[in-house]
Amino acid sequence: MTQEPDFEQMLDDMYPYRRTTHTHRQVPERPESRESVRELVADLAAREDAQGDAGRVSGSIYSGDHEHYAFLNEVFGHFSHANVLQRDMYPSSTKFEAEIVAMTAAMLGSREAAASDPSTDVCGVLTSGGTESLITALYTYRERARAERGVTEPNVVLPVTAHVALDKGAHWMGIELRKAPLRSDWLADVDAMADLVDDRTIALVGSAGNYGHGLIDPIEELGALAVDRGIGLHVDGCLGGFLLPWGERLGYPVPRFDFRVPGVTSISADTHKYGYALKGTSVLLYRSRELRRHQWFTAAEWPGGLYVSPGFAGSRSGGLIASTWAAMVTMGESGYLAAAEGIFRTAGLIRDGIRERIPELEVIGDPLFLVAFRSAELDIYLVNDALKDSGWRMNSLHLPPALHFCVTRPNTRDGIAEQFLDDLAAAVAYAKEHAGEPAQSGAVYGLGGTPAGYGTMTTLMAAVLEAMYEPAPPVTQSPAQ
Ligand SMILES: *Cc1c(COP(=O)(O)O)cnc(C)c1O
Repeated sequence: MTQEPDFEQMLDDMYPYRRTTHTHRQVPERPESRESVRELVADLAAREDAQGDAGRVSGSIYSGDHEHYAFLNEVFGHFSHANVLQRDMYPSSTKFEAEIVAMTAAMLGSREAAASDPSTDVCGVLTSGGTESLITALYTYRERARAERGVTEPNVVLPVTAHVALDKGAHWMGIELRKAPLRSDWLADVDAMADLVDDRTIALVGSAGNYGHGLIDPIEELGALAVDRGIGLHVDGCLGGFLLPWGERLGYPVPRFDFRVPGVTSISADTHKYGYALKGTSVLLYRSRELRRHQWFTAAEWPGGLYVSPGFAGSRSGGLIASTWAAMVTMGESGYLAAAEGIFRTAGLIRDGIRERIPELEVIGDPLFLVAFRSAELDIYLVNDALKDSGWRMNSLHLPPALHFCVTRPNTRDGIAEQFLDDLAAAVAYAKEHAGEPAQSGAVYGLGGTPAGYGTMTTLMAAVLEAMYEPAPPVTQSPAQ
């Protein structure tokens, strides 16, 4: 923090197109030609896809196959303007949506579960993403506990690694989250979770796998706890839900986490991650229709008419539903298996390569598809600085400081894992040489360790969000040198 931040440079980083494109501050008086807009948009998209297409990005883009995207966009285009609320006009969305839910349920053990327990009748809904799936699950458990047990001050018990969207949902809905620490193997400490359950607990949450470390919580143990206490168990399979079932089929050591596990009452699985659909969809499944019913909203006394709505959204585009369905049926089992094979193999190379070749780093837990690593001796954010300079985009974690590489299809091409390990070893050497210097990429995360740091971080984050909703400021200076 010895250098004055260069304000112009910061603006150029945040608004890289402010010098080369026109900034609209009102609707243009004269319409621009479609041709000029097409050209501009194609240029921006090509620039922004380059790093991901090179296979150097963790997570974020899951398919990377531009022919697949073009096909999905074609399907999307047929229904992009359709509002699926109007089912009399668009009955095809009933076909697409119900089949997405059915295919996802079958992938996640609904049939085996029903065979061993006839009261099981897995059903679900489509949402706009993992966040909405998680928040909706919280809502459903809250409504059920209020209706059946009179719970007015609900709490949910979960490990610290559960996804932060649950914090957001709990904040919005007045639900208390009770967070348990991890065991020494980095998985949810089920005994600690049991101690946090009381008569106002509406559900437990476990992840398969969690966002930070990619690890799968002991869902069998959590299921037994949920059954014992008569509460729900939501499994956050937003990340792993569309990948782990194929890993099991391929013979990887995937512990059971789906509806085959007694006590699992709901699962979220994101079609827009390893389902390889377009962004904006996720599936939320329930073990029973009785549970799902608590999600429905009806209003009988509105002048606008009788209103019935399944979830948070009002109008929804038929394009997303149709293209998600199209992604699933054109991938097929063999497509999903082939993609999973590459992902598990590549992640295994990275995991084992770090363990064997880079003693300064520690792999967190025993991951299958997302490899998180930290260092007892180095500033891991300095490692990230060097990785950034060689073109990689990792995810930075904290508590404890670490980086993760969430392996997706673009990373599975020949040679990428090896190149990553070479660059990672060089990045470790860089961090050793520059030990003690402040890291560029860890600055924000690094602030998080102290209470004062959290305050600073909150102010900083608010400023970033506010800047995101401002058109680029006028250019007053030439580019910083
Ligand atoms: C991505 C993710 C979410 C949130 O999903 P969004 O689609 O980004 O809203 C939730 N849980 C896990 C484990 C995730 O990886």
